[in-house]
Amino acid sequence: MFRTKLEQILKETEEIYRFYQNASLNEIKQREIVFKVPKGHPRGEQIQSYSLVQRPIDSLFEETSEGILVLADKAVASLGFVQKQISNYNHFVFDSVESELKTIDYMRRIVKNIKNKNVNQIIGMGGGMLCNISSYTAEQLQSDLTLVPTTVLSMVDSSGGKVRLNAASEEGNLKHFYKSFYEPNKMILDQRFLDSVPENQVRIGMSEVIKHAIFQSEGLYNFLVENYQHIINKEKDYLLKTVVWAADLKGICLNVDIEEQEYGSKNILRAGHEISDRIEERSGLTIPHGLAVSVGIMEELEMKGKEDNYQKAERIFKLYELPTRREELKK
Ligand SMILES: [Zn+2]
Repeated sequence: MFRTKLEQILKETEEIYRFYQNASLNEIKQREIVFKVPKGHPRGEQIQSYSLVQRPIDSLFEETSEGILVLADKAVASLGFVQKQISNYNHFVFDSVESELKTIDYMRRIVKNIKNKNVNQIIGMGGGMLCNISSYTAEQLQSDLTLVPTTVLSMVDSSGGKVRLNAASEEGNLKHFYKSFYEPNKMILDQRFLDSVPENQVRIGMSEVIKHAIFQSEGLYNFLVENYQHIINKEKDYLLKTVVWAADLKGICLNVDIEEQEYGSKNILRAGHEISDRIEERSGLTIPHGLAVSVGIMEELEMKGKEDNYQKAERIFKLYELPTRREELKK
């Protein structure tokens, strides 16, 4: 038995390290990550679990036909292989500007427009924000939901079924003003999106990967340090392995402790996040989440006097050219 949930998480992390240490590219590509849906959650009665599977998005449109509504990021919708698929379906393309899009008022208006259109499945394709508003829309319509995360950050981080929207008013911004859970029926990882992600986005997404490396997996940490050139250059074997490994680590956190308890997954998943949320709010929600997270983690470690982890974190954030101090965010 484990004394804490955190202990259990770290034990399971060690077990999957053996897989990633030896896995071939083919094995990585076949890796399927299963997320449990807790009974008490709104979807707990309908689905017991959902998976992150790697396959081309084309398969989504073969299986199902009627009642699909695709919500997609503008940059994603313009990719040839996406356009070809979604042009035959109802779709809605969003221009990603977080400050406006992820607000509750904006999304209420969108949902109102969709409500009488007989939608029974939402397919959300894009970064973290797009996955979030897709989950909100599916929740409001009580429809099925498929998430297709297209950025490094969202591939690692958009599992878990959290629905989060911000509130914006003249007095200020509130990150995550609206909170609930609505798990997807499935998540699809199509590697072709990794080819199209701009280098800057890879870097921003890496901060959530590095979070798992610092607080959960020494093995991943060493892999990231040794191979940062390959990863930043988006060499597929390396970037894909990085993303799938980190998603797996998040899966362990969620499956052991989705409630993010104090001596459980909170230590990992919410590391630096109290601070990063405030940084984002103060910036009018314009600073990318990943950049606020690396600064948040550094400040939190400094505050808590965790010297070892501080140095570990500083070393790897600098390697990946991520900000470690607030001043760097103003540039
Ligand atoms: Zn985060």
